[in-house]
Amino acid sequence: MAFKPADNPRHTNSWYAASAKDKRVRPVLEGETEADICVIGAGFTGISAALELAERGYSVVVLEAERIGFGASGRNGGQIVNGYSRDLEVIASRYGHEKAVKLGEMSLEGGEIIRGRVAKYGIDCDLVHGGFFAAFTDKQIREMADGKAHWEKHGHTGLEMVSKAEVGKYVKTDRYAGGMIDKLGGHIHPLNLVLGEAAAVESLGGRIFEGSRVIGLDTGETPVVRTDKGSVRAYYVLVCGNAYLAPLMPEVHGRMMPVSSQVMATEPLDARLIESLLPENYCVEDANYILDYYRRTSDNRLLYGGGIGYGGNDPKDLTGVIRPNMLKTFPQLKDVKIDYAWSGNFALTLTRIPHIGRLSDKVYFSHGDSGHGVTTTHLLGKILGEAVAGHAERFDIWASLPNLPFPGGRTFRVPLTMLGAWWYGLRDRLGL
Ligand SMILES: Cc1cc2nc3c(=O)[nH]c(=O)nc-3n(C[C@H](O)[C@H](O)[C@H](O)COP(=O)(O)OP(=O)(O)OC[C@H]3O[C@@H](n4cnc5c(N)ncnc54)[C@H](O)[C@@H]3O)c2cc1C
Repeated sequence: MAFKPADNPRHTNSWYAASAKDKRVRPVLEGETEADICVIGAGFTGISAALELAERGYSVVVLEAERIGFGASGRNGGQIVNGYSRDLEVIASRYGHEKAVKLGEMSLEGGEIIRGRVAKYGIDCDLVHGGFFAAFTDKQIREMADGKAHWEKHGHTGLEMVSKAEVGKYVKTDRYAGGMIDKLGGHIHPLNLVLGEAAAVESLGGRIFEGSRVIGLDTGETPVVRTDKGSVRAYYVLVCGNAYLAPLMPEVHGRMMPVSSQVMATEPLDARLIESLLPENYCVEDANYILDYYRRTSDNRLLYGGGIGYGGNDPKDLTGVIRPNMLKTFPQLKDVKIDYAWSGNFALTLTRIPHIGRLSDKVYFSHGDSGHGVTTTHLLGKILGEAVAGHAERFDIWASLPNLPFPGGRTFRVPLTMLGAWWYGLRDRLGL
């Protein structure tokens, strides 16, 4: 299948890159420079931290190997999903009630940060409110209802269960047995969001360098970050390279596994057709272990994601899994053309909880949002910024959560994780 060509070099060939509002290319770092804080990676985590610090008056340099939003942040489904990749009751049972309460208090904050910055800096990123979680089975509906009860204990009032008869209000398909809406969820054009936040960093005096891959880091008392053409001396360094960090810092990237997910965008559809598929313009994700996620775009395309590649390998046929899934959901789209298809990597941890910590007194890191990162990265980026500004209370709560290595070492961690995923996928297919 032939897709539209890339017109935004070094970004992946996505609809996002083609419709980016800000196509400026930032300079490459050349020579030596200094800053209070040097951030490695210009995705949501790095840019969220940089913006928090720039707002607090610190001088910030961000070094990005490729382009701002090159990684998962500029490629994802754009779904604003509240909470974490593990439910709060799982967090309570693993880490205790007190930590669950603290994480619960922060669990809506990522979405608030996004909405607040979009308003404050006038970021044009197609922000739409409302998300729908789709259930295939009664078991999934019961799990959603339990999750809703737990959420409400933590102050989330935007959730409502949806019966099978009401599903058509949100999505026109007969695949689902019911679901739940989250009025505090929603969707955005993620690349335009991160580009808008990056421009906000620059408006406050921050400097961002693209095409500036970090190849060395001295983690001493005054850390020095090196690229092939320059270096940054800083009081603090924040490592925010997530699934794209390798081979830098094996002690960080060895604790996560890159996992790919695929996304495609149809040609623009007739307005009446796309409105009939998703009448409320909510984004949708289903409750399966390997899930489908989809939504409308501002130019009336259907943007549909799913599929999975453990180890971060892209499938040869990018639409091989997701197009058949789209047709199961919306058979009426069988003749629709797919204009763009791409793949991106997120970072999975064994616990599915983000991994935050310190490599030294001066070098901090955050990664591993495990698939649901649009809100979490905004929260954790802010928390990284708070920590180096001298308020590490929230950072220390996250850093205290144990991170475990994947079983099987480098050779067997991918096949072992695939085996586990196959088992959970089989349970979904059998409706267990
Ligand atoms: C296809 C896909 C769909 C997704 N859909 C959703 C969704 O709908 N909702 C949701 O909540 N989450 C979703 N996610 C997850 C979410 O996108 C991520 O959790 C989040 O964007 C991670 O942000 P990040 O800043 O930590 O990492 P990234 O966005 O990957 O940014 C890391 C950056 O660091 C740079 N970098 C790495 N190493 C270096 C180096 N040595 N020197 C300089 N720069 C370096 C990379 O080039 C990259 O730009 C999805 C992920 C994928 C891949």
